[in-house]
Amino acid sequence: MIEFKNVSLTYPNGTKGLKKVNLTINEGEFVVIVGLSGAGKSTLIRSINRLVKPTEGELKVDNENILTFNGRQLRTLRTKIGMIFQNYNLVKRSNVFKNVLAGRLGHTSTLPSLFNMFSNEDRALAYESLKRVNIEEKIYNRADELSGGQQQRVSIARVLTQKPKYILADEPVASLDPPTSHQVMTYLRKINQEDKITTIVNLHFIDMAMEYADRIIGMRAGEVVFDGPASEVTEKT
Ligand code: ADP
Ligand code: ADP
Repeated sequence: MIEFKNVSLTYPNGTKGLKKVNLTINEGEFVVIVGLSGAGKSTLIRSINRLVKPTEGELKVDNENILTFNGRQLRTLRTKIGMIFQNYNLVKRSNVFKNVLAGRLGHTSTLPSLFNMFSNEDRALAYESLKRVNIEEKIYNRADELSGGQQQRVSIARVLTQKPKYILADEPVASLDPPTSHQVMTYLRKINQEDKITTIVNLHFIDMAMEYADRIIGMRAGEVVFDGPASEVTEKT
């Protein structure tokens, strides 16, 4: 469970990224955050794994206030949170297999020189993860030989290999064309349902949000301005 209690974040230059956000995200939910560019979606998502640090309020993950965490506690927190980014964040010159194995390290940087440290179990899990997003045939291709949609599927496989409790996807389809975007959203939704991974996705477009989300959170200027089931969105917007 993730709980925001009066969470605000003011960047060092004075810009307010979040203003008194109150939210509870329950186990297994698939939540989409929508809002215009600059609304605070990315700041909200990045607060949860402490890539950015809120300046006020209380932010709890599994009943612990992560705003007081030290370095060791943050590393533990990040192993249970899988991140997916707009630009995939793969190591371009490494092959797909190494990129996905990096999920076992619990973060999103690959250390190809440590390839031999992975067990057969890790390797089997990486291969299974690639199969779940139908990209196993590219296992020995370099990441930069893949199309955008294929790279995003590899980044989903990397997150699956991490076996996280939460998935945070920051504009995962913003660089993809509509059919590929739907494919990626379908995989994210399927994984949420099959593995019960609580998932939060930032999206630009409300129509896509309504198609996939149970619950939609609308943001504007750092504030939550809507929070409800997708079915209630049309009347409010
Ligand atoms: P979104 O993801 O909805 O586009 P962001 O969370 O990226 O919104 O940004 C929210 C606000 O915080 C914007 O006004 C943005 O310009 C500002 N912002 C984001 N990152 C920084 C930063 N590192 N320093 C200063 N301001 C920032
Ligand atoms: P999409 O289906 O997302 O439009 P592309 O048209 O970009 O994909 O790619 C089609 C095929 O070409 C894919 O199988 C991909 O692996 C391959 N491909 C794309 N970019 C490159 C590249 N730079 N080098 C080698 N193969 C590539």
